[in-house]
Amino acid sequence: MNTPILFLDLKKQQQRLGNVITDRVNQVLCHCQFILGPEVQELEDRLARYVGARFCVGVSSGTDAIQIALMAENIGAGDAVFLPAFTYTATAEVPLVIGATPVFVDIHPKTFQIDPEHLKSCIHEIKSSGKLKPKAIIGVDLFGQPAPWDELRKIADQEGLYLLDDCAQSFGGFYQGRKLGCEADATVTSFFPSKPFGGYGDGGAIFTNDAAKAELYRSLRTHGEGKTRYQVLRTGMNGRLDTIQAAVLLAKLDFFEDEIARREEIATLYDQHLSAYVTTPARVPDSKSAWAIYSVLLENEAKRTIMQRMLKEQGIPTAIYYPLPLHQQPAYCQYHDGNALPVSEALSKKILALPIHPELTDEEVFRIIHAIKNIEA
Ligand SMILES: *Cc1c(COP(=O)(O)O)cnc(C)c1O
Repeated sequence: MNTPILFLDLKKQQQRLGNVITDRVNQVLCHCQFILGPEVQELEDRLARYVGARFCVGVSSGTDAIQIALMAENIGAGDAVFLPAFTYTATAEVPLVIGATPVFVDIHPKTFQIDPEHLKSCIHEIKSSGKLKPKAIIGVDLFGQPAPWDELRKIADQEGLYLLDDCAQSFGGFYQGRKLGCEADATVTSFFPSKPFGGYGDGGAIFTNDAAKAELYRSLRTHGEGKTRYQVLRTGMNGRLDTIQAAVLLAKLDFFEDEIARREEIATLYDQHLSAYVTTPARVPDSKSAWAIYSVLLENEAKRTIMQRMLKEQGIPTAIYYPLPLHQQPAYCQYHDGNALPVSEALSKKILALPIHPELTDEEVFRIIHAIKNIEA
């Protein structure tokens, strides 16, 4: 059997980066400012510049970033938060944690991004039923490609809704020539190790151009504190980014552009060589993906099961994002109106993610390509 290919290879990444990470972490071990040490501010400054936002606030995870952003808008009981049904659980979990209600919107069958037409009809339905107050839209840049921000902005403005970008999978991606990070009222991202810009543990960030909001996020991530340590202005949370994580991320930032470029090369090889055999992902026009995930579509669930098993036998791992759309999850189905979301439901049975990470060699990529061709031929 061939040597197994890895779906994610953090060990090889660490070897490639050499001593930069341990050197940076060792500096933290020397100064011992583990909470909000100087690396946190340094990372925030560099990341704000990187995405072109005025402010970046480092927080404890992507999930907590969503929570802090929504808490800052006083979103809670009786409020409807619109989001795609086809995303990671955190996007829907947070509105519920703060007492609001998620409203699940279907997605585009080719780009997998939230469908603006369906979003409009969901907003209309919520308004006419009168039980919930439409309050916010969370656009998710799924798999690394951007959500349709022009249309989402228009809808949010027309309806007076807060617009949040869940950029956890797309940090480093572009929309119409602009780096993602400034399309919505605020943008959140995640530094979970498997994300395109991943740390060595949990971490996240919020980007905004609004100075007052940035201050509010800083207060909320430290228990709602005011100008002095034991002044509590509001209910907050313990949501800070660890200094050690900031150090790891600072070390990795210098290599990030090359990593994104490598992901793009791999995606292009898959596109070129696989499109005759499986449905390769449609590119969102005028955009650049961060390629957190490269998903193809098989004809049906049975074919996907066979493909996944046969690849596994050849040492090629795959993954399914997402096997169940959120409106069908046991925890969330009670909040859904019961209407079918046909695109999300169909895709969850046909979608299959292939390995895509900067450590993959061309040889490994072609092993994957040939294996898929042989199975489908
Ligand atoms: C990973 C992810 C999150 C949550 O990020 P964590 O850092 O794991 O809390 C939120 N939204 C999406 C779309 C994600 O992929």
